[in-house]
Amino acid sequence: MTKNVAPRIAFRFSLSCFSLSLLAGLLSIGCSKQNHLQSVIWTSSSNQNQPALLKSSQFTSKEISLMGREETIERAPQKIGAAEIDGTFLQKITDNKGQLIFVKSLYDVNDLSKLLPEIQKLDTLKFATLEKLKKTNQTLQSAAHVFAPKVLVLTNEGTPQVVYQLDFIDSSKAGIFRMLVSPSTGVFSIQRSSSAFEEGKANIFPVGPKSSQLAEVILANLTGDGTLTKENLKLTSQISEKAHSPNLVFDYDPQDVRFDQVQSFFYVDRALNFFQTRLGISLPFSLEIQTHFGAPEKLNAMFYYHGQIRLGTGDGVSYNNVMKDPSIVIHETCHGLIDALARLPLGTGEGGSLNEGFADFFTTVYLNNPNLGEVAYLKGPYKRTVQNDLKVSDKNGGLYHDSLILSGTFWEIRQKLGDQKTLNLAVKTLPRLGPNGNFDSLSTSVQYALVTGFMETDKIAVTDILKKRGWN
Ligand SMILES: [Zn+2]
Repeated sequence: MTKNVAPRIAFRFSLSCFSLSLLAGLLSIGCSKQNHLQSVIWTSSSNQNQPALLKSSQFTSKEISLMGREETIERAPQKIGAAEIDGTFLQKITDNKGQLIFVKSLYDVNDLSKLLPEIQKLDTLKFATLEKLKKTNQTLQSAAHVFAPKVLVLTNEGTPQVVYQLDFIDSSKAGIFRMLVSPSTGVFSIQRSSSAFEEGKANIFPVGPKSSQLAEVILANLTGDGTLTKENLKLTSQISEKAHSPNLVFDYDPQDVRFDQVQSFFYVDRALNFFQTRLGISLPFSLEIQTHFGAPEKLNAMFYYHGQIRLGTGDGVSYNNVMKDPSIVIHETCHGLIDALARLPLGTGEGGSLNEGFADFFTTVYLNNPNLGEVAYLKGPYKRTVQNDLKVSDKNGGLYHDSLILSGTFWEIRQKLGDQKTLNLAVKTLPRLGPNGNFDSLSTSVQYALVTGFMETDKIAVTDILKKRGWN
């Protein structure tokens, strides 16, 4: 805190959510989940009276008192009885003469005293409740440590709810998590509450060894235990030499078996990031990459099943360097995306071909390269290409052959509509296809997807391409 940046003009507001939403368009104030709480900012340089809440007995439970060189910072949550009110605080800054100079608070103005009996009761029972929960709840049972339970008031848009807050260190010691337990309905939320996120570094090929030089990249949000693990993604390997670095710098020679682990972790991580930033989708489950699958056997293994991606080394005849091939690793990751959006079948039937086709389509758009398998495939320049003219009448029942009809169609749409619109179209088409999607329902699913968010000229262009390719 420096004096120079302290606001010269004090302002004070206590807008309700309603008036905030009216202003939102003008001031771009977001109405967050705390929007029913009221906010105050006060500075001594204003001519305003000190906020009345400074005298309230609800803010006496000091959570921090930090004495800096020039200022002292104190913070307290708002409490009702033994319970904190979620999201609230009162922060005070005093100068070294003991004069109050700044106040900021988020607080609940409602009279919550009617909750006192319930809070009192839950507070008395908190340790007994924890012991009871431990008997039935696997997460708590296996936790490395459970902190003392607390009673918390969730303000829930004006309908307050008294719950237990249980902070614990998980069994793998990856971080501290917060469990919220309703006394009537049980556990309803578990969220990470520690900032155990670490940034790692790696030397890898950003877009594969054929299209890029070795470069240093950032591996963000690693849990920090030295392994390739983050909240939604972890890497395991079937060989004994595992990429592990206590300082999170993963720098191996490309010939080192650990290099491939880092390389494939990076590809999947970036693909997940692509799903978030370009498709607006965070996978609702975490992924596991199993590298060197089947080792010491050299397998052409590359498949996705229930959140797990298995990658072999390649047999050295048809494939090698499977884990270094961005198109293969990202293709498998895209099966996770498609699993979430549509749960199309894997490996069989028309639905399986659509699944493969969409996985190829997302991969090739992401890599901006229509060819798949350029790095790993040994028997030609690539294994498949989405740049093709195949029509529905060319269908022969081959899983990957028939997938090319779908991927070729979407690649052609992409050439007309551009990347973003075509990605949006694919993302909207998949849930409309659903688990029983097949070649017959593809065209209507695309039409359903086109209903909103596309221009008339886009719809015409897409419909023309579908017709030309023989999709009914
Ligand atoms: Zn596949």
